[in-house]
Amino acid sequence: MSEHQHDDTERLIADFLGTGEEPAPADHRSGYVAVVGKPNVGKSTLVNALVGHKVAITSPKPQTTRRRILGILTRPDAQMLFLDTPGVHEPQQALQRYMMREVEAALKDCDVVLFVTDVSRLPNDEDRRVAERIARLSQPRLLAMNKADLLDPRDVVEHVAAHEALIAPTSQTGGEAMGRAPEAPGAETQQPVEPVSSIFNARFSMLTSGTRGDNLDRLLSMLLATLPYGPRYFPPGQTTDQNERFLAAEFVREQALRFLEQEVPHGIAVTIEDWQPRPNGIIYIAATVYVERESQKGILIGKGGEMLKRIGANARKEIERELGARVYLELWAKVRRGWRRDDALVARFLEGSA
Ligand code: GDP
Ligand code: MG
Repeated sequence: MSEHQHDDTERLIADFLGTGEEPAPADHRSGYVAVVGKPNVGKSTLVNALVGHKVAITSPKPQTTRRRILGILTRPDAQMLFLDTPGVHEPQQALQRYMMREVEAALKDCDVVLFVTDVSRLPNDEDRRVAERIARLSQPRLLAMNKADLLDPRDVVEHVAAHEALIAPTSQTGGEAMGRAPEAPGAETQQPVEPVSSIFNARFSMLTSGTRGDNLDRLLSMLLATLPYGPRYFPPGQTTDQNERFLAAEFVREQALRFLEQEVPHGIAVTIEDWQPRPNGIIYIAATVYVERESQKGILIGKGGEMLKRIGANARKEIERELGARVYLELWAKVRRGWRRDDALVARFLEGSA
């Protein structure tokens, strides 16, 4: 198809849909970017910052993200579809097995892998496990060395080298290779390996800060270069594939994670039971917050209901901001014993169809 015809078709579709937006240029790029890494390195924060909208909840507690979440960035020249994923960890129960299947599905679907690490620390075995998993993929791999705002200037050289080694071709042989003393000059087996950057003639890693916004434009340019040519898959106003009810449940869970301690937050699941726009413009939402044990229910409710109220008040503000409407949020606490070990309940709770 000639460029001219391509433009006409795009315009006809735009007219038909009544979107009135500029048609995508002929060299428009689009594709899926799987965002992977160990827990708590800042994957969800980064996706929110790149998309410019809160599509994924974040918290200092590991395993906040439980399923694949699509964050959509639409620009005149490209549409980047970020797949935020749960942190890679050893699956021990039904919930964790579900989470790891979500990571695998994202890797299978994607056009490029964005591996996120915490550069303020040296890489550990968890990072190496992720590196080994993605080394087997055929898609391009890029590295965001995140939390650069916490990187001590004295550690920059050592940490950057150690993190870049995670996705350099040598690291495919295993983590031990990285710390090994250099061999005598001329030793054939230890020839320095060309960094990936010189092979593709482009950078493959970037120091970033999701919270401060450092280098996000450069990271986007780096990603853009790896994406194939393709159309806009989603209308420009759309930032995620989650519906409003699912997002609202997630915002409640985010506040529960924020205020609850120790084992309680990990056993939380939130489902929306009722959603009614009222004539006075207020949206009435009822949600159930599940915990795994009777004792946890007491903690969740708090003295005189004060904990549940605090979670509700904070979540309501987030939901109101998202919906652009006033919200009346009612929360109920319930026990669902051992739901994290039950495949069927995990699927029901995570897919928001309870
Ligand atoms: P995920 O588990 O990888 O999705 O991590 P989150 O995005 O939930 O972030 C985990 C914690 O790290 C949260 O408390 C974030 O506020 C914090 N965080 C994320 N990115 C950065 C960053 O670039 N710098 C700093 N200082 N903190 C960050
Ligand atoms: Mg996350």
